[in-house]
Amino acid sequence: MNYRHIYHAGNFADVLKHAVLARLIDYLKLKDKPFRVIDTHAGIGVYDLSSEEAQKTGEWHGGVGKLLDIDLPKAVAPLLAPYLDTVRQLNASSNVRLYPGSPKISRMLLRKEDRLSLMELHPADYETLHANFADDFQTRVTHLDGWLALNAHLPPKEKRGLVLVDPPFEEPNEYERLVDGLAKAWRKFPTGVYCLWYPLKRSAPIKDFMKALHALEIPKMLSVELSVKSEREDGLTGSGLVVVNPPFTLKGEMDVLLSFLKEKLAQDRFASTRNVWIRGE
Ligand code: SAM
Repeated sequence: MNYRHIYHAGNFADVLKHAVLARLIDYLKLKDKPFRVIDTHAGIGVYDLSSEEAQKTGEWHGGVGKLLDIDLPKAVAPLLAPYLDTVRQLNASSNVRLYPGSPKISRMLLRKEDRLSLMELHPADYETLHANFADDFQTRVTHLDGWLALNAHLPPKEKRGLVLVDPPFEEPNEYERLVDGLAKAWRKFPTGVYCLWYPLKRSAPIKDFMKALHALEIPKMLSVELSVKSEREDGLTGSGLVVVNPPFTLKGEMDVLLSFLKEKLAQDRFASTRNVWIRGE
């Protein structure tokens, strides 16, 4: 396990993932009934952007750093507000030093009656995560393989909830694992909202991945993608999210949000977006 999210916290991929996560939680809050957020690959929860690791890559400058000091267009502001507000709230001054990972964003958005389950397998990251949520009775932190947890924790006893699956993609078979994991999880909790992260890079098997997802016959599944540069470039060129059981307005919102993020976060003229139903409509 070599992956450490501190090198990437707040980058363009985090922006898309965390903006959608916050939006999905806001939707769950429209109903009074309590819900649970299950975050299977949680990371450490909060990232220090002034740390040596974060400064080494400086990736956040090309992500959240481009969004904090600008006036957002009217149509975009409410879509980014739930996410950007968590970043601002975490930082007392206008100088952003701390960046909230998915656990912190979820936690900041929960109501009193809602719950959060976090899994992290890296021993040191688990310790940090655990310390970050010590004494928080709404949050349960487990040192566990997120793929196993996905099965063991579903369905949540609240019977409503959001499952975020955000693996590090260190292994070549992670796309297949995501499909298998979703298939098993959905059988146990078909009404859950799922948000699965995947990387876009040269030679990523995206067509096969989409085909395999389509074959699952899950009725409502949206794919949302933002590429910030040409797929011929090295490394991560973009990222995507599969959203299962999305709120019905999400697709329209994503048209607006993706086109804005593309304009702001593009690194070359080949930046592009995709917002399509894998199944459903
Ligand atoms: N979700 C976090 C966020 O948005 O702030 C970032 C998570 S990072 C992309 C992936 C995390 O998964 C890393 O912290 C890594 O240590 C952890 N991890 C790797 N394999 C795991 C596994 N099998 N089960 C649980 N966590 C795992």
